[in-house]
Amino acid sequence: LKKPNIVILGAGYAGMITASRLSKQLGHNEANITLVNKHDYHYQTTWLHEPAAGTLSPDRTRMPINSVLDLNKIKFVKDSVVEIKREEKKVVLENGELEFDYLVVGLGSEAETFGVPGVHEYAFSKWTVNGAREVKEHIEYMFAKYNNTPEPQDELLTFIVAGAGFTGIEFIGELSERLPELCARYDVPREKVKMYVIEAAPTALPGFDPELVEYAMNLLEGRGVEFKINCPIKEVTETGVTLASGDEIKSETIVWATGVRGSAIIEKSGFEAMRGRIKVDPDLRAPGHNDIFVIGDCALLINEEINRPYPPTAQIAMQMAEVCANNIKALMKGDSLKTFKPDIKGTVASLGGKEAIGVVGTRKLFGSSANFMKKMIDNRYLFLLGGPALVLKRGKNPM
Ligand code: FAD
Repeated sequence: LKKPNIVILGAGYAGMITASRLSKQLGHNEANITLVNKHDYHYQTTWLHEPAAGTLSPDRTRMPINSVLDLNKIKFVKDSVVEIKREEKKVVLENGELEFDYLVVGLGSEAETFGVPGVHEYAFSKWTVNGAREVKEHIEYMFAKYNNTPEPQDELLTFIVAGAGFTGIEFIGELSERLPELCARYDVPREKVKMYVIEAAPTALPGFDPELVEYAMNLLEGRGVEFKINCPIKEVTETGVTLASGDEIKSETIVWATGVRGSAIIEKSGFEAMRGRIKVDPDLRAPGHNDIFVIGDCALLINEEINRPYPPTAQIAMQMAEVCANNIKALMKGDSLKTFKPDIKGTVASLGGKEAIGVVGTRKLFGSSANFMKKMIDNRYLFLLGGPALVLKRGKNPM
């Protein structure tokens, strides 16, 4: 009997946990499991605001895939997915093709520009290891350049974050915390540096508890961050941003964090999608496709209580992966499939240094207790992926 080919696209939270679970739940003779990823390393996207601001080495956020997955049981293919040929049950890669019996799409997300011109050309919008490296190097270069320019330009030291959601707040938290060190290192007077967070919505951190939002904003304002809320950006240009009001803020550094859309591969492959995300069936399959599971940031899932999509998070990506692995095994064995229901345990946003805010269960957390919880959440993922050994090797010190 031919062994089915299970092909997993993307080695992020969703893909890694699916591959790990399937390799443990299925015997060697039961299936061929193939994992495809652009790089031969896995990175923790949720940590990337730290290397982007320069508070953590990028290498701390990534690990070789062969150090965490058993590549005797999983075939790893380092390549880029170009297109999914749904009807032919094939995946086109930059350097080849793969046939599948079961497909798991976990290709993550890309920046959502909301049609604002200039984002791709002039803003930093890639939340990847290489994207984070570029932002960090660019910021340091701006500091280095300032004192070597005959007439120092203020825009060199003006840092704009577009979007006061989770990513934008976590990034400015790190950068504002690091600012004293940068100023000292590059002989730059602190008062010369300007940091803006510009948000189109009527509040920062939409959906978060208002008391926690106030705590975060006060803390960041205390470090010199200026918030412009209810203030849509009309255009990003070579010299800065133009606001809907017509005002321009000149800056050489615009970090784009206004939210994400699903991987471009989804729409390119002809799936019906909303902002690049497929509204999946309750068992996580793409509608009309019995053999294609879509999980993580590529999947759209409606929170029936408020009739709005759940925000794409690593927390949900990991939970989807567990159900997806279970359902593939069930399909192979002719068992019934599980329905996915997210179990939101809490949300914690770091604010740099030992500061954070969050809700865990029904408890609101501030400051160092939230920071402790944030590190525990980061470590919990490592535990789920590689057990206590991975936490010891790569985990964060929660103190
Ligand atoms: P990803 O983890 O992004 O993985 C996708 C993988 O696919 C990557 O390895 C990528 O290299 C690969 N890939 C992409 N395209 C291709 C291609 N064409 N070919 C081959 N490989 C490809 N969520 C939380 O729950 N809590 C948080 O605190 C939190 N903080 C965040 C902080 C930041 C700075 C950011 C950017 C996000 C944060 N998120 C957080 C959101 C979270 O990171 C995502 O929801 C999560 O990463 C989604 O997992 P995923 O597996 O779908 O995609």
